[in-house]
Amino acid sequence: MHSTASDGVLPPGLVVQRAWEAGLDIIALTDHDTLDGLTEALEAGQRLGVRVICGCEFSVRVAWGEMHLLGYFLPPAHPAIERFLIDARQMRFDRARQMVESLQAWGVAISVDDVLAEAGDASIGRPHVARALVRLGKVPDVATAFDEFLGLGRRAYVEKVLPDLALVADLVHGAGGLVSAAHLRDRANRTTLSRLMLDGLDAVEVRHPRHPPEFTAMLDGLAGSLGLLRTGGTDWHGDERDPACHLGAWAVPVEWVMAMEARVASRESRVW
Ligand code: AMP
Ligand code: MN
Repeated sequence: MHSTASDGVLPPGLVVQRAWEAGLDIIALTDHDTLDGLTEALEAGQRLGVRVICGCEFSVRVAWGEMHLLGYFLPPAHPAIERFLIDARQMRFDRARQMVESLQAWGVAISVDDVLAEAGDASIGRPHVARALVRLGKVPDVATAFDEFLGLGRRAYVEKVLPDLALVADLVHGAGGLVSAAHLRDRANRTTLSRLMLDGLDAVEVRHPRHPPEFTAMLDGLAGSLGLLRTGGTDWHGDERDPACHLGAWAVPVEWVMAMEARVASRESRVW
């Protein structure tokens, strides 16, 4: 789930509140390139009796380009990860400025301040730029902002500067966490997953709103045969923009969480 610490709509405490209202027992907060929402989410979780798994969604480089990597079971603050993420967020800020410059070059009157009015001190992403475009009346909605300007290969699309998967996997492992390949869709096959495992991948996101049932079944089978852990969720940003992302719509078996915990425990007890 995402909060205002990155491109979600609700502050971390309210994300947990909504999860509690939806009857969820366990959630993971996985904001893009930040741990900033975790402390507030943990506090809300304690108050409401919702277990909050501390996470982060990293963007990494793999063979085909950008892949999203979910880190789970992170500490809510961790010096080495924080140092890494400060650079990642600076990259996001520079990229937002490049997107603004590109939009201006296409004749769209928008400033960096317009984007900052949406993002505040959050980890900046394309949704903030999209919301600024909507607020300024340049496009009717966020979907159109992506279609016309911000989506992959569109007019004002700017690539991220990306760290390699192996580097981020090492960082997360060093903090006692695990990494899962997020919403792979048609990228997922045995060869690709095996390759990603060589770089440290622990798990694959099996359940996601963008994964059709037959695809989920295929991923589940691949995870089983490759020895990958399974993760899943709604990728909820708080805006209910898509009925498939409806909060609580995707049940994730608690056994998947337990298997991850067992892996973490076995790593911790290993003598290097
Ligand atoms: P960024 O990390 O800045 O590249 O932005 C990625 C975010 O943009 C993700 O959280 C997605 O939820 C969101 N996003 C990507 N494509 C679209 C789209 N077509 N419409 C709405 N949101 C999108
Ligand atoms: Mn993602």
